[in-house]
Amino acid sequence: MGGETGSRPSTHHYPKLTAKPVGKQIHSIYRDRLRQFTGEGQYKAQGLEPKIVEARASGPPAVKLSVWSAPDLTRPTFEDATKHTFKPSKIGDAFGPSWSTHWFKLQVTVPKDIKDRNHLELHWDAGNEGLVWTEDGVPLQGLTGGGERIEWILPEAYRDGKEHILYIEMACNRMFGNANGDTNFPPDPNNYYTLTTADVVAINLDARALFYDFWIIGDAAREFSEQSWEEHEALQVANAIMDAFIAGDGSNESIKEGRKIAQQYLGDKIDSEKVYEEDSADTLVSAVGHCHIDTCWLWPFAETKRKVARSWSNQCDLMDRYPEHRFVCSQAQQFKWLKMYYPALFDRVKSKVKTGQFQPIGGSWVEHDTNMPSGESLVRQFLYGQRLFESNFGERCQTFWLPDTFGYSPQIPQLTQLAGMTRFFTQKLSWNNINNFPHTTFNWVALDGSQVLCHMTPAETYTAEANFGDVKRCVTQHKSMNNDPRSLLVFGKGDGGGGPTWGHLERLRRCRGLSNTKGKLPKVAMGGSVDEFFSKLQKKADEGTDFVTWYGELYLELHRGTYTTQANNKRNNRKAEVLLHDIEFLATMASFKDDIRRHGGFGVNAQLLKSYKYPKKELDEMWELVLLCQFHDCLPGSAINMAYRESDEFYATVFKTGKKLLKDAMTALGLLDCTSESQDQVLVNTLSFDRSEIIDSTSPEKPAGSINVRGLGISLTEASKRSWVETAPTIHENGDGEYVMENHRFRIKVSEGAITSIYDVAADREVLPDGSRANQLTLYDDKPLNWQAWDVEMFHLRSRKELRAHKSAILESGPNRVSVASETKISERSSIRTVISLGAAPTPGSQEGEDGSGPGSFITVTSDVDWHEEKKFLKVEFPVDIRNTNATYETQFGLIQRPTHYNTDWDMAKFEVCCHKFADLSEAGYGVSILNDCKYGFATQGNVMRLSLLRSPKAPDGEADMGNHTAKWAILPHIGALGAETVRAAAAFNNPLVSRHHDGGSEGSSYLKSALDFDATSRILGALSLDKSRSDPAVVIDTVKRGEDDEDVSTEGAGGIPIRKGRSIIVRLYDSLGGKCRARLHFGELPVKKVVKCNVLEDDGEEVGIKDGGVVVQLRAFEVLTLRLSV
Ligand SMILES: [Zn+2]
Repeated sequence: MGGETGSRPSTHHYPKLTAKPVGKQIHSIYRDRLRQFTGEGQYKAQGLEPKIVEARASGPPAVKLSVWSAPDLTRPTFEDATKHTFKPSKIGDAFGPSWSTHWFKLQVTVPKDIKDRNHLELHWDAGNEGLVWTEDGVPLQGLTGGGERIEWILPEAYRDGKEHILYIEMACNRMFGNANGDTNFPPDPNNYYTLTTADVVAINLDARALFYDFWIIGDAAREFSEQSWEEHEALQVANAIMDAFIAGDGSNESIKEGRKIAQQYLGDKIDSEKVYEEDSADTLVSAVGHCHIDTCWLWPFAETKRKVARSWSNQCDLMDRYPEHRFVCSQAQQFKWLKMYYPALFDRVKSKVKTGQFQPIGGSWVEHDTNMPSGESLVRQFLYGQRLFESNFGERCQTFWLPDTFGYSPQIPQLTQLAGMTRFFTQKLSWNNINNFPHTTFNWVALDGSQVLCHMTPAETYTAEANFGDVKRCVTQHKSMNNDPRSLLVFGKGDGGGGPTWGHLERLRRCRGLSNTKGKLPKVAMGGSVDEFFSKLQKKADEGTDFVTWYGELYLELHRGTYTTQANNKRNNRKAEVLLHDIEFLATMASFKDDIRRHGGFGVNAQLLKSYKYPKKELDEMWELVLLCQFHDCLPGSAINMAYRESDEFYATVFKTGKKLLKDAMTALGLLDCTSESQDQVLVNTLSFDRSEIIDSTSPEKPAGSINVRGLGISLTEASKRSWVETAPTIHENGDGEYVMENHRFRIKVSEGAITSIYDVAADREVLPDGSRANQLTLYDDKPLNWQAWDVEMFHLRSRKELRAHKSAILESGPNRVSVASETKISERSSIRTVISLGAAPTPGSQEGEDGSGPGSFITVTSDVDWHEEKKFLKVEFPVDIRNTNATYETQFGLIQRPTHYNTDWDMAKFEVCCHKFADLSEAGYGVSILNDCKYGFATQGNVMRLSLLRSPKAPDGEADMGNHTAKWAILPHIGALGAETVRAAAAFNNPLVSRHHDGGSEGSSYLKSALDFDATSRILGALSLDKSRSDPAVVIDTVKRGEDDEDVSTEGAGGIPIRKGRSIIVRLYDSLGGKCRARLHFGELPVKKVVKCNVLEDDGEEVGIKDGGVVVQLRAFEVLTLRLSV
């Protein structure tokens, strides 16, 4: 430097003569050498790992074991289990079979020669999961087994040399269930687990720490670029640690020396949370612990309850030992289970929520599928989820958390916004097997234009091992750096539960130490929250950063078989949703019957007032079960057989309770089950539009015919008032096995079970292409690349095989309906019977059927399948003479378009998609809709529409879909574009008119009970209506229910959520077709005092003025609008 001119540089210590030859280090050899120190290979015994365990005491007297095995795969409580007699047990004993439970009593006496060692642990390993309990029944910590999370730190009190008692609850399943092999095998029911370790162990903490030091420095030597000096230095430091260890012959001093050398690279703060305090302003990676527990999957729901306790107790323990540790946890259901079955642990979790370490997230009941649940189901996932979080922890969640679900509905951003959340986290699209999703941080836009800020972690996992590589990928795989370089790193064991281990936390401290000392690796921040992470992004958006937008669904280019697998479970979902819809509407109106009667000026029997109570508690129980079954491995069909036997029971409970509730509400309204054929029928329409339908004759004296029932109302069909349908359909056989069916609208031909012609009389147009066969059953070979239950691959289409019926006959030829039944052999083992029916059409020019949902406007097919296939896929296809590059599918609260062509890989990837009640292919002036009553998989390839019926994967459920199935579908050709006709017909197809008998005129006991005449019932049920002349036909009233917190319905379960004074009705409407529209909601004789708009959590917003006994509201395209009517 300047100023020292004149002084000569000192060179005296540089030897004049060379002492020895020195070669250039061969990089790869010195890098490969590192494996010798901590690897599993031939030099393990000379390496670091054996130094970690200083001493070990196995068997009695250190650990005395006795066991009680619970009978019949039961899972008894601590109290129950510990009442039994325990028998002696020992290391080497095997326990089973799969899913059985064994309770161990451990009498632990720390031997004298170990008791003063630095750090003592109990090591327990039987290769299966376990939970450590105190002697008096407090769950302490979970055990994973198989070498992973096998240690429990012995408390200081154990050093007293006396005997201490513990219990371990052993579950005979591994973290991923009982499949021997991967998830391509169903579980083995006969697994036995051998107890290999039950030891008291003294640990050398320096050796263990050096192990982690070396791990991260070794990663730097392997993963940094060779062009960087940081890589070279890491290699030198790691080699120096090994040299010191060898020179000291593996002594404690050499280990300490190694740790000192490691500081050159990692700094001197890595042994505490203080490492995160250094230069924390420029941290790019926010790390947060997480534990994804599939609520069922390769294990039953019943086991999940225990997985929750095992996993979360671990996290509470880690929070005590690692102050920087933060843990996000989703799924309200799991919190509810913890509270029910492990109250002490729940309190511990609650205290950690208070300190901000344990962070509830997600705001939904479970991490549910978003493809198949109805719109209202999605609403309830949020409503029930957020209410549980709010009532237990005083706060709602701000971030919707769904890292593992198989694709995301285009209405999620709207619904999350309406549920008080503006952020969304996932990573699943990194699983796409065709296209690479292009964004990390972006605005995700719903059908109605609502947006949420979405982050897909660039680490591309929610179960990061918190390795050097995970941290590095947070930058190298970040795709939105132009907008913002920050990212979330979500780490911890997951899927089967577990969560972060202390090893994860140790590694992250070292990663941060490395960043602090050397730079290069992005800095990891700990101790924050996901909400804080998103808040920073949101602030940036507020300050003007234009994050990229993604419109519409986040389609997962994988797992397309999940729209079809486990058909019965999917059918139950659809039926339960319809049932809940009906009960809520009828019960709501019944709960206001006295108000309506008083207001309407018809008689009220004072004694009968308040005679009906809205069954909130039972409805909550039903909803919670339905929401539970929408979990992302249950409804999609990717769980084991055991889980479906449980969900069958859940649904059975739902249907049983539902049947009772429906009857109670009907009875309160004076509507009774029809008991004799001579009674007049009352038809109940729970949908919001008028319907014309055919009424089946109940006796020869009663002519059949069509009847019109107003929306949200009833109609009485006295024999004399029924209208004969003038135009009964006809059917005849041509002689060559071809059947011709005809009504006023269509002339169709059926041959070998398929439809060879649909001539639309009104449109003067043939619907099918020449020579094609609609309602054609097809069978495909179905062997995806990987996961059978989840996937179907493009190439299955190459194996298309047409199935032809071997027998057909006329089944019905009545005034209401004509039909042909056909039987088709699928294989030697399986067969299908289909019935193609055409109903009576209204007389041309008559009022009935003007809205299109009328009788005879579509061709119905019912099917009964006896299904015993292996890796085959059954579909039914409908070629139509329609040309469009896009088809339209019903989704939650709206429509979604997908391509019918394969122009690009993105188009082609959607070769199988999810639909709800209908799919539609239309061109200018004409179209065809395919309706279904319980299916979700669909494809439109060119002009061929294809409904997916059944699959037959053999893993993880070896019995998936075997047996009998029924399903209905319909072909609805329509004049004009896709419109309200299809939306309504599909809703009606799924929700048949309910037929009851009104006993209002009689003197029987039921009359006294209901005290309603028919007119009263009609005015009560029909109080709410959409004014047809002033409402757009696209508007649908989707849900009518009572306000959650109304004083007369609120349940204790709401906990800390305040009761709301007064009574109210929640009405949820939406625009079903995608255009700005208007609705006038009329209240009839319902004395509505005030109307406010609210969100789906039922928080009140702006007031809507009542005028002329109703309100007028406007909706954006595909907007979901919730109103509270205060009565
Ligand atoms: Zn999952």
